[in-house]
Amino acid sequence: MSKTLMCVLAHPDDESFGSGGTLAKYAQEGVDVHIVIATDGAAGSVAKGYEEQRSQLAAVRAEELKRAVDILGGTLHMLNYRDSGYINDPNNEHPDAFINQDVDTVATVIADMIRTLKPDVVFSHDSTGGYWHPDHIKCYEVTKRAYEMVQAEAHEWGPQKLYYTAFANTRTKFFIAIMRLRGKDPTKLGRNEDIDLTKIGLDPSLITAKINIRSAWDKKQRASAEHGSQGGGGFVGYFPKFTRKWFFGFETFMREYPEIAPGSRKETDLFEGL
Ligand SMILES: [Zn+2]
Repeated sequence: MSKTLMCVLAHPDDESFGSGGTLAKYAQEGVDVHIVIATDGAAGSVAKGYEEQRSQLAAVRAEELKRAVDILGGTLHMLNYRDSGYINDPNNEHPDAFINQDVDTVATVIADMIRTLKPDVVFSHDSTGGYWHPDHIKCYEVTKRAYEMVQAEAHEWGPQKLYYTAFANTRTKFFIAIMRLRGKDPTKLGRNEDIDLTKIGLDPSLITAKINIRSAWDKKQRASAEHGSQGGGGFVGYFPKFTRKWFFGFETFMREYPEIAPGSRKETDLFEGL
């Protein structure tokens, strides 16, 4: 029987910039991949030339997302909660903002999707949201809750493993060095200059899985490029071209369930042991 992977991510582009290699790799290996995107992305930073489209940004981002998922492979599920924006963004005050929704209510929606799609493996953002984005942290909370709800029901089927995307601070330190070499300020990242790279990254001992995505590298780049309204490249664009595939040739995760003993050998496959 074919395996099923489900991810719950915050914004249109997180599926490509963040874990696009892992999603594309598993899709091309025949895994049934389901990509759940929580928000409409309408508070996302607006790339040059897209300012006039701000009011229609949600529609633009939905189209970009569909094209990106077509490239990665897999089935897209959009929950269309209102994008909250980064820390201190006025969008966070809106009552419809994703971060202001009740955790159990959203978790119930995601739990229903888990019951329907029956994934073997689920992943979401980690508890820091990767870079402290409130929507990412909310995704972590609701996905963990949903997973635990379904696990508590003791079905005959999974989900059997829950992971979070996880980025080691050793890699962040390397990025900071590269940015300084290129004359960029690593504490003022992003078009709004509100992302501080020096506060990003987890202790590497927390990383439990390292997935080689080189076979899906081109798909990840092409899918990322579809997100033109968001700059279309994530952090990758800061790096000299020859370093990219080498440095970004793997994606890392931490496993929440089943628990993993500290110091265990790192997994190289999210389906290992299943
Ligand atoms: Zn995001």
